[in-house]
Amino acid sequence: MSVVFDKYVIEEETYLKAMILSRGIEFSEKAIQVSIFEKAKGQNLVYNMPLNTTNSRPQELIVINSKDSYLVVVSCVASNPTTTPVYLDADENHKLIAFIDNKKLDNIEIYFVKEPKYYSETITNGENVKKYVSACGLDELNIIPWKGCAISKGCRFCGINNFVNKEDLSAHKISKDKNQWYKVCNQYLDNLEEAVSIAKKSDCYKEHAHVILIAGNLDNNSLDFETAVFAQITERIKPLVSDISEEGVVVVITPPQNMELIYDLKEAGVGKVVFNLEAITETGFEKYCPGKADLGYRFFTDRLKCAIDVFGKRNVWTNLVFGLESKDNVLEKCALLIKDGVVISANVLHFDKGNSLDCDVPTTEDVVDFFYKLEVLNCQEGFFPFYCAKALRTSLSNEAHDMRIKEIKN
Ligand code: SF4
Repeated sequence: MSVVFDKYVIEEETYLKAMILSRGIEFSEKAIQVSIFEKAKGQNLVYNMPLNTTNSRPQELIVINSKDSYLVVVSCVASNPTTTPVYLDADENHKLIAFIDNKKLDNIEIYFVKEPKYYSETITNGENVKKYVSACGLDELNIIPWKGCAISKGCRFCGINNFVNKEDLSAHKISKDKNQWYKVCNQYLDNLEEAVSIAKKSDCYKEHAHVILIAGNLDNNSLDFETAVFAQITERIKPLVSDISEEGVVVVITPPQNMELIYDLKEAGVGKVVFNLEAITETGFEKYCPGKADLGYRFFTDRLKCAIDVFGKRNVWTNLVFGLESKDNVLEKCALLIKDGVVISANVLHFDKGNSLDCDVPTTEDVVDFFYKLEVLNCQEGFFPFYCAKALRTSLSNEAHDMRIKEIKN
């Protein structure tokens, strides 16, 4: 039995995901015991961490529809104080059960996403593989070459600089002195190659992997250098991952100042480029992404359009944080940019440590309606959603595309 919700019929796994993303989730003591026993993946503490939680909080859940085995992964986002969060408990057989407004949700199986095997493995020099590679969702293979973000002013939803230690190779250090990168880059690339070779054998990448090269920005004057480094890393790892990567190497980056350098990413073998706007209205962009706004709204949109000439349609993406701006304004802007050839997806806004936001998490109704309508827009241009429903843990793009949300026609 699917769930009738607002103007839509939603399959149970997608309904639960939408509920968790908009209301957040809390765990019973029994559920936490199961997570410890099953070695659930904890918070990565690289980019973010839900507000008011610890790093032992399970990071993600797998939700499977019992009728047709459709599987999604959802992030265990912090509970939203304005609503009743989803409650995760475990029964006497240690099976996880979800309650929404005290009512058990049927027809689903729930599991914690476990730590990939490589999280406990090391490379030859004794360092953890995880220092070089980590997993987001079930099957993202993330490569994050440095810590922190040196953008002129941080985006207001982002807490990335809370996780930088003094000894880390950080965006700030490299921005100040490029030698900080040159000094380590050969060793880094050798170690990364070894780490990727170990990680790719993990079960979580058995079907495929989404290989994503991502990091916080270098400062505004070092963006061309950032592109050069990402091209250099891509050249080295592309041959290693070509047998498992679904999209080739995906590079998530603030574009270079010099648009010509976008060709260097293509030449290095990048499969898709992602220049994230985060907020798509000019006012939202200025308010919530003041550092990106220092570069300029047009800086991003011009380079997105230029990248389409280089990479072709379907290969240039931008991601938004849904909830920063009003749904209708966002959809209006999305329609224009999608028509220009940019594929758009979004994460549902959630509160992480270090944010300085003044807005609420969007309602479940808005979340469902937004992703349904965004899919209609992308679909008109023949665009597919990013990655897959097992990777995109804070978005319903794939679920909408896979028709897990259907509009009730009058
Ligand atoms: S550019 Fe914004 S969202 Fe990206 S890492 Fe920096 S502060 Fe965070």
